[in-house]
Amino acid sequence: MVMLVTGLTACHHKMNQPVITENNTLEKLLQGNNRFAAAHPLHPDESRQRKGEIAKGQHPFAVVISCSDSRVPPELIFDQGLGDLFVIRTAGNLVGGLEIGSVEYAVEHLQVPLIVILGHEQCGAIKAFVDGSETPGHIKDIVDLIKAEAEICAIAKDDKDRLAHCIEANLRHVTLQLQEQSSIIKEKMLKGELNIVTASYDLDKGLVTLLK
Ligand SMILES: [Zn+2]
Repeated sequence: MVMLVTGLTACHHKMNQPVITENNTLEKLLQGNNRFAAAHPLHPDESRQRKGEIAKGQHPFAVVISCSDSRVPPELIFDQGLGDLFVIRTAGNLVGGLEIGSVEYAVEHLQVPLIVILGHEQCGAIKAFVDGSETPGHIKDIVDLIKAEAEICAIAKDDKDRLAHCIEANLRHVTLQLQEQSSIIKEKMLKGELNIVTASYDLDKGLVTLLK
């Protein structure tokens, strides 16, 4: 299940800034998640000094697109602090124009070298689609988007593990969507300046697993 990260490249910041690479940013996230899952978080970058530093400008090292679910807050589960992560959260970690624009800002203006699309087990948005029950108001918009995903449609209706497979299919869909709908993201990836990884969060264990 673990994805091998290839095409490691340096992101060239200004001369006096440390070089941030996609490889060490992923490692930093996974180490933070290990601390969180082991119940030994460091809660970094929350000091008064940190607040002063980032007031001058932000240099987050990763974009995280995650579900709005209250059990999946990226800064906590990756044990990161202020100014570390550029986070976009929607139900089902779905993206549209506004969300893709936010990601583009992070990769284009802030030169963030890594996008993590983080799904989680028992995702209510995907479950609403799988259950097929009536959804009121704009919740229907969410379910309709999920319903239209080709990757979701490819999962058999009688699949014994349909919810988990739909959650993974949705992550593959969002990965493709970012590249197909954003020339900024696509070009950065072609130049080797940006990578996208998908991951799943285990609610009980508190562990993040990278997916293929
Ligand atoms: Zn969810």
